[in-house]
Amino acid sequence: MAEVGEGMKIRRALPSRERRLIGAWCFLDHFGPTDIGGTRGMRVGPHPHIGLQTVTWLLEGEVLHRDSLGSLQSIRPGQLNLMTSGRGISHSEESPPMATPLLHGLQFWIALPDSARNMAPAFDHYPTLPIITCDGATVTVFAGQALGERSPAAIHSALVGLDVQMPPQSSARLPLHSHFEYGALVMQGSLTVGDEELGPGTLLYLGCGRESLVLRSDSGTRAVLVGGQPFGEPVLMWWNFVARTHEQILRACQDWNGRADYLGEVKGYDGERLVAPLPP
Ligand code: MN
Repeated sequence: MAEVGEGMKIRRALPSRERRLIGAWCFLDHFGPTDIGGTRGMRVGPHPHIGLQTVTWLLEGEVLHRDSLGSLQSIRPGQLNLMTSGRGISHSEESPPMATPLLHGLQFWIALPDSARNMAPAFDHYPTLPIITCDGATVTVFAGQALGERSPAAIHSALVGLDVQMPPQSSARLPLHSHFEYGALVMQGSLTVGDEELGPGTLLYLGCGRESLVLRSDSGTRAVLVGGQPFGEPVLMWWNFVARTHEQILRACQDWNGRADYLGEVKGYDGERLVAPLPP
């Protein structure tokens, strides 16, 4: 468990000791469901990123995003926020003043390949995404391509991200890309994947080479399935940075603390910017 902002508990599914990447997916936090009534809720002060894209996906509540490009964007369940750091960006995340009391969601990072690591930063909000029925499951394609549908999200490597909702006593056979590795994470309820029954908090790594996956749920579930072509580039992560070498990480920390222009400045957040801890 880690803490984000002022006291919100989160579960870090990726990276773990056993698994650092699934395709280009390099980080996955599951926060809530948390009752933020009577508190200020999520409060993540201005901080930088390099070398990655952040994906925010909510099940409940609302989060307000600000970034150094001047973006000010509220996100609600069913919508996707995609921030591309490229060579450098900074942002903050907070619960808006009139937020609903429950907050529940995911934040993913996607490592950018060398071909996109130094691109200009960008921020995109996608208010609607393709939703498909597959046997007993309702699947939202928030990244990549599946079941004949493609997410509008601008991604730079071959990967997929699916939100899977299943009612009690249901099953589905989901077609997969056999050259992708996959992982499954339950957010609510329970899900049986092959012989494994998963509850919230465990990331099941599924590897490559599957043409399809049989999912069953006795109690109903809300889960995500992420996959991608094995990344094939070295990835070094420290604090909010994804890089290739220790020197790049150290420089990014020093540059943020020294207020280098390329990492930008977030305007309008009522709180302090975070300080980068130097790597050992
Ligand atoms: Mn961030």
